[in-house]
Amino acid sequence: MIDLKRILEYQKNDSEVVKLERQLNGNENKKIYSQMVSVVKEAQNQSSALENEAGNLASSYERLKKTYNDNLKSVNAITNKNINNMGIDELKSIEDVAKTIVNNLTILEKKLLNDAERVRNVLQGFEATKKKYNVAREKYNKHKALFDEESKSLKAEIDKKNTALKELESGIEQNILNKYKQKRQDGIYPVFVPCMDKACGGCRMELPSASLSTLKKDGIFECEHCHRIIYIV
Ligand SMILES: [Zn+2]
Repeated sequence: MIDLKRILEYQKNDSEVVKLERQLNGNENKKIYSQMVSVVKEAQNQSSALENEAGNLASSYERLKKTYNDNLKSVNAITNKNINNMGIDELKSIEDVAKTIVNNLTILEKKLLNDAERVRNVLQGFEATKKKYNVAREKYNKHKALFDEESKSLKAEIDKKNTALKELESGIEQNILNKYKQKRQDGIYPVFVPCMDKACGGCRMELPSASLSTLKKDGIFECEHCHRIIYIV
């Protein structure tokens, strides 16, 4: 038979820590400032998407400028010609070039207007994102400070209980303690449950007689159903 006094005391302290931590996590100010962390992150993502768009617009502007310069060269080429000495065919071809230039410039103007609209949107987006970021930061700081203030005593209490847990650890058999910690990590809680009326005190599953005799012999038995450790009171 193993001595379960200390591990049960350990479990009791552990459950108190869980309760206090739940209380800590349920704090309204904590909820708000945690939400603000995601808002800030979202604003940062939006900001980098806008930077991308701004980069695209800059390259688009370079391309449009080049098209404009190319057309300007064509304009210069035809305006420098003396049309007085030209034949009909040559005049016709100059007219065609001029038409193409006008056409190109019309397209260019449309593209520039479109880009100008995009630039306006990017600037508005930057402005809105900055505002959102600042509001979220401010809200984060405010509620973080409130939480820190409100949680001081609770945190101190948790620290105290954790210290008590550490002290209790030294008196517990290593394999029992390891088992406890492993099961806690797996989300099994409480780990140790009493045997109640020949059944597991955790899941209420009735124990077969063979398991009951092992339990009586060893003092503990791992429930096959819920994997808690059953002990005899
Ligand atoms: Zn069980």
